[in-house]
Amino acid sequence: MIVDATTRRAHAAEVRAVFDAVVVGAGFAGMYMLHRLRGLGFSARVFEAGNGVGGTWYWNRYPGARCDVESLQYSFSFSEELDQEWNWSEKYAPQPEILSYANHIADRFDLRRDIVFDTRVTSATFDEEAKCWLTETDRGDRVAAKFLIMAVGCLSAPNRPNFAGLEDFRGPIYHTGQWPHEGVDFTGLRVGVIGTGSSAIQSIPIIAREAAALTVFQRTATWSVPAWNEKLTPEYLRAAKADYPALRAKARGRPTGFYFPFNTEPALEASQEDREKQYEQAWARGGLPFLGAYGDLLFEKAANDTAAEFARRKIRSLVKDPVTADLLCPDNVFGCKRLCVDTGYFETYNLPHVKLVDVSRTPIERFTADGIEVDGVEYPLDAVVCATGFAAMTGSFDKIRITGRNGLTLSEKWRAGPRAYLGIASVGFPNLFMITGPGSPSVLASMIQAIEQHVDWLADCLAHMRDVGATTIEPVLKDEDAWVEHVNDVSTVSLRSTCSSWYVGTNIPGRPRVFMPYIGGFPIYVQKCNEVMSGGFDGFVLEGAQDSNAAPQVRYTERWRVPIDIEVISPAAVAARRVPVV
Ligand code: FAD
Ligand code: NAP
Repeated sequence: MIVDATTRRAHAAEVRAVFDAVVVGAGFAGMYMLHRLRGLGFSARVFEAGNGVGGTWYWNRYPGARCDVESLQYSFSFSEELDQEWNWSEKYAPQPEILSYANHIADRFDLRRDIVFDTRVTSATFDEEAKCWLTETDRGDRVAAKFLIMAVGCLSAPNRPNFAGLEDFRGPIYHTGQWPHEGVDFTGLRVGVIGTGSSAIQSIPIIAREAAALTVFQRTATWSVPAWNEKLTPEYLRAAKADYPALRAKARGRPTGFYFPFNTEPALEASQEDREKQYEQAWARGGLPFLGAYGDLLFEKAANDTAAEFARRKIRSLVKDPVTADLLCPDNVFGCKRLCVDTGYFETYNLPHVKLVDVSRTPIERFTADGIEVDGVEYPLDAVVCATGFAAMTGSFDKIRITGRNGLTLSEKWRAGPRAYLGIASVGFPNLFMITGPGSPSVLASMIQAIEQHVDWLADCLAHMRDVGATTIEPVLKDEDAWVEHVNDVSTVSLRSTCSSWYVGTNIPGRPRVFMPYIGGFPIYVQKCNEVMSGGFDGFVLEGAQDSNAAPQVRYTERWRVPIDIEVISPAAVAARRVPVV
């Protein structure tokens, strides 16, 4: 039985309603977009498949779910009052607290009245005569809007591998990305977890506390650094908030869109002894900033090997059984797949009731009535957790039939990989915008900052269109092609492009291998967006504008015009310097 987390409320379909904008999704992106649209006097309707706001944090309620960018930075920065009034309880807040934060945003900015919940957008068609989008939902709504804004999320379409015999299994099968709202009690059960990515490494230690037996099916061993999560004291919060605007500004200058100490020295120029000290310090600090131990870790394989060797020694020191420890030691590039951040993950394998099953050479054969079979051995299970990730970046787009000019659908256009100018818009789909779309820093930055930057840029863009009377905006093909090529070129400079991961789409069989997010770094990308705007939307065609030379008014994008912290920009600058930004 596959367990689905959705419930539905009554809904009166809206037919023939007209808005300035339809926004799809009410995660952080959809909520902030709505707030900005309202501020500019645009009318908007937001459709959300879930029955609440929060997106990722609404759906991913699995045990142990929390952010891995520090909460003081993994939060909106557009309102200083909001920054001052909200108190995070931990360095990395747990999912319920982030969901409360999302709900607080919805209440504080009175967003709910324009959001329709429990409603999935199924199709959107561009009407070439009326120059507007007709959006349809699974509840019968048919709504027209000049602008269609996709805030559908980069990690919102769960990947449920189609294992043989799924229907035979007698117990429940959960997916971490669609967790039941009422929670799951694993007490006394034999539980199987498939996957060892971020969702798995967060949930495994907690599930192990409840389950009578836990079997983890691992296809690829994961690199993980300890979180060293902790409570934030009132004194700490007071001090951080006293300097909050400075922290936010520093974060905007960094390639990741969040601030942490970064050592630009190359690992290979340090002595073995110094490297060891540096890695120990980085390990003691914990989390994603471990990658800032040296400037070349994601660029030079030999440098990366030194970090990998250090991390493998850590794993061997944490896991008592040498065979299990060996299996848990990854042999791919350190940080190539997204680095995981854990609390007690490796130590969990020291518990006598926790077993690791290698499915790298012999994959999961089938589900049986009573468990999972691998290489002729049946592992008896009462419940299974698929921590198998997402059809990242484009998965939620693929589920909507989006038809642009001349009947072209977005899925057809993107069959060989997504193509979008700046990751914001795509030729053939006028007035359709993507928030953190493929080709933008998105998942390689702290996502809330990436979202805010896109929304602010879009808000200024839409206001400009209204100011000059433009009916449509659409990228120019040659500029889109050049950007897609640039995104691709820059990615090849980084070791991250070398392995199989959801960044390149290969976690799902049959998807084309394309490095989807922009790895050139957040500030370099922001600079490009700012230049495009200052140049009167370079690389875009605005139809119907009465004054095509009018300079756009910079309202919301102003705060993103910060100096690039070039000296510490690390991977981004290296990549962008070697492969100049188009
Ligand atoms: P989402 O939060 O994914 O929201 C998209 C919304 O669109 C969803 O609610 C979905 O239901 C809705 N939707 C999609 N399709 C349709 C449709 N057809 N019709 C109607 N509604 C639709 N990022 C970080 O930077 N730091 C972190 O620490 C971090 N931790 C994460 C932890 C987990 C478990 C996961 C899965 C992701 C994490 N991320 C993190 C990435 C996270 O997705 C983003 O930070 C952010 O929450 C994305 O917000 P969003 O609004 O763009 O998308
Ligand atoms: P993921 O990183 O894609 O991990 C999925 C896991 O499932 C991988 O170990 C994968 O193995 C395995 N898998 C998939 N299909 C399989 C199959 N058929 N058989 C066996 N194993 C299979 O997904 P995720 O853990 O949900 O994380 C996705 C992203 O969400 C993260 O990278 C991160 O950006 C975000 N996230 C963040 C946090 C956080 O700490 N804040 C927590 C959760 C998620 P392979 O590696 O071999 O493909």
